[in-house]
Amino acid sequence: MAEELNPFSIAQEQLDEAAGLMNLDSSAHQILREPMKVLNVRIPVRMRDDKVKVFEGFRVQYNSALGPTKGGIRFHPAETIDTVKALAAWMTWKTALAGIPFGGAKGGVICNPKEMNQRELEALSRGYIRALGKYIGPDTDIPAPDVYTNPQIMAWMMDEYAEVASTNSPFGVITGKPLEVWGSKGRSDATAMGGMYVMREAAKTLGIDLKNAKIAVQGFGNAGMYAYTLSKQLFGSKVVAISDSKGGVYDESGLDLEKLQKAKSETGSVQNYEGGTKMSNEELLECDADILIPAAIENQITGSNADRIKAKMVLELANGPVTPEADKILHEKDVFDLPDFLVNSGGVIGSYFEWVQNRGGYYWELDDIETKLDAFMTRSYSQMMEIRKDFEGKGNKITPRMASYVIAVKRVAAAMKARGWY
Ligand code: NAD
Repeated sequence: MAEELNPFSIAQEQLDEAAGLMNLDSSAHQILREPMKVLNVRIPVRMRDDKVKVFEGFRVQYNSALGPTKGGIRFHPAETIDTVKALAAWMTWKTALAGIPFGGAKGGVICNPKEMNQRELEALSRGYIRALGKYIGPDTDIPAPDVYTNPQIMAWMMDEYAEVASTNSPFGVITGKPLEVWGSKGRSDATAMGGMYVMREAAKTLGIDLKNAKIAVQGFGNAGMYAYTLSKQLFGSKVVAISDSKGGVYDESGLDLEKLQKAKSETGSVQNYEGGTKMSNEELLECDADILIPAAIENQITGSNADRIKAKMVLELANGPVTPEADKILHEKDVFDLPDFLVNSGGVIGSYFEWVQNRGGYYWELDDIETKLDAFMTRSYSQMMEIRKDFEGKGNKITPRMASYVIAVKRVAAAMKARGWY
């Protein structure tokens, strides 16, 4: 039978497994298997040929037991409601695991931003907020950037929200904003930075010397590019492989940033890096590296390629890059696979810092932010390891993903219980 790759079915399957492990109350389980609110909007945009094109957009507010819902907005041609629902569920577990006062949400618009000019993108961003403005807010639901959206798009969206909500203080409605409109220092690389702190802790667990480690990164966007620069900068590691949607490149002696950027800007892909060996995205995942960082899209390591992964550690910086079948194979092979909602939670923690600063009107320095982020990430990692130890003590060796689920689901369920939801 073909492996189930619908991201929402995967998210539900993961929750079901965690619910079994922790004997979750059946009412809580029922509430948590589906989103609380799904919004579906249509956004007309006048395009450069003067014709109107109607885009479909979504916002899924999965669970708000722990606070206002929080999650990014994606602009992607292959966006589906099931992907958005899965990502909203994962945001719920991510904020709970991180111990920040938010629930989970996600948004998306079916569009191809690579084919749109700035004016069309601005109109689409503003249209999205006009359609959804009543349902979001600093105390309700707080969007942020995700795949193919960026700080400029957040600034347009915030500006539109100021109109919709008639306020001169719209800043807390959206995070990942440019610094000029009260974004936070450190937000742009917070996802990768948080992932680096987890990588550092996991390397201690596995006895990997990061200075001599070979790293492969899939994706050269916000998450992937910073994972590349920070692993070199913080630990002196060698990044031997990197890719984008067109393909990847391998160089055993380590890839050079300037040459990567040159290949990307002159040819549109890092694949054309001068002096490396070209490889496909599939080959990159299976290449000779100690640590593999998937930082692009979901369903990359599946039942069909998991047994060929050579890395000792998989650091899931992307959302949903490992399917449940692959998860089991990696676990059996003793590959230390660290789950997305732990590894990439630095993004939402950075967003939380931005929201706190916006609401307090007082802004922090970068070193303060990095110290705080490190403390949050290190705490999540050690709590996850504690739970694994507890289960192991009872003769049940569970994955880092399941240990993280147990913590997160327990927190959301306890909040729902205290609020009288079941
Ligand atoms: P991005 O749009 O900046 O970059 C995406 C990268 O993936 C690009 O390099 C693109 O070329 C590459 N890509 C696209 N399709 C691909 C394919 N089929 N195979 C290989 N590479 C492909 O996006 P991002 O913000 O870096 O997000 C990447 C992942 O990290 C996503 O799963 C996202 O949900 C997750 N994430 C990002 C953040 C954040 O703060 N940016 C936070 C949490 C999670």
